Amino acid sequence: MQDRIYNFAAGPSTLPLEVLQEIQQEMLNYDGSGMSVMEMSHRSKMYLNVFEETKNTLRRVMNIPENYEILFLHGGATGQFSMVPLNLGKTGKADYIVTGNFAKKAAQEAAKFIDVNIAYDGKANNFTLIPKQEELNLSVDADYVHICANNTIYGTEWRDYPETGDIPLVADMSSDILSKPVDVSKFGLIYAGAQKNMGIAGLAVVIARQDLLESHRDNIPVLMEYNTMVKNDSMYNTPATFSIYVLGKVVKWIESLGGLKAMEERNRRKAALLYDYLDNSTFYRALADKSARSLMNVTFRTPSEELDALFVKQSSAAGLSNLKGHRVAGGLRASIYNAMSYEGVKALVDFMKEFEKENG
Ligand SMILES: *Cc1c(COP(=O)(O)O)cnc(C)c1O
Repeated sequence: MQDRIYNFAAGPSTLPLEVLQEIQQEMLNYDGSGMSVMEMSHRSKMYLNVFEETKNTLRRVMNIPENYEILFLHGGATGQFSMVPLNLGKTGKADYIVTGNFAKKAAQEAAKFIDVNIAYDGKANNFTLIPKQEELNLSVDADYVHICANNTIYGTEWRDYPETGDIPLVADMSSDILSKPVDVSKFGLIYAGAQKNMGIAGLAVVIARQDLLESHRDNIPVLMEYNTMVKNDSMYNTPATFSIYVLGKVVKWIESLGGLKAMEERNRRKAALLYDYLDNSTFYRALADKSARSLMNVTFRTPSEELDALFVKQSSAAGLSNLKGHRVAGGLRASIYNAMSYEGVKALVDFMKEFEKENG
């Protein structure tokens, strides 16, 4: 695959080559049907098999308990910023732990519908840290506590999730779902946009404890009501059929490599290669605090904005693309999701060494 580059984009992001090749093979004629999955009725027997198999494989890979629903929804992770408060804000109040840009957006959206208590705000430390339990100002009567499990923009990630007792913990796992084993039973609801670590855009996956999904008001827009989606097995209207098919391929790929434990080992090895190099360099600086570093999004800087810009330009010319940091954080960012190989990270570190030599 001579003409493929190493794509460090935060999302949509790189996919496993094996997955792309399988999709290519099946593109014109899926399993003898004489058509593409894209052209199939979502109610056809053949497509329902794809749908069920995707769900079953995800349940197996993530070890999702039987009392949790898996929903395939529209509207990305951002859609969940509205759906969570509309559906789970049963008495009208929730705690939000703000550790980054998406966590803040989620809180702002929720505040349109319910009372939001900001239980922690990492703004003062420039979102370089994840709070400890004793730093959280949690309410005793919140309907739920919301966190962002991995802060895609600032490059921090929760390691030990907060203790919330009987209050359901809700997590936006858009950028680290499937990157490591997670005890799903600790959460009331998990959601993720698929285009980072699960596949392609157009699909939001929700994994939620069944008892939380009962309706409590009758004016929720029909596509935003979890209960409608539960009752219709995510097919109240046409779901994102092709994105669900791609997710099925991605979870099977993970399973073939040994599941989430193996993924975590791979991800730790990749991240260590990059962080160790950053820590030993006097030229580059890692942005997230060591205690909070993400395995998925590695944020760093050179000594100046000019050199950051030159780095982006030259790395891109060398076949290492999308290393510019998010506009709200600046600097540089390498997103090294499951599908990024160790070789890709090695190529990045080799480039960084050369760049340091020339500009340090
Ligand atoms: C990308 C991202 C989002 C936004 O996802 P959309 O699917 O574009 O709505 C939300 N939260 C996190 C953590 C993300 O990484």
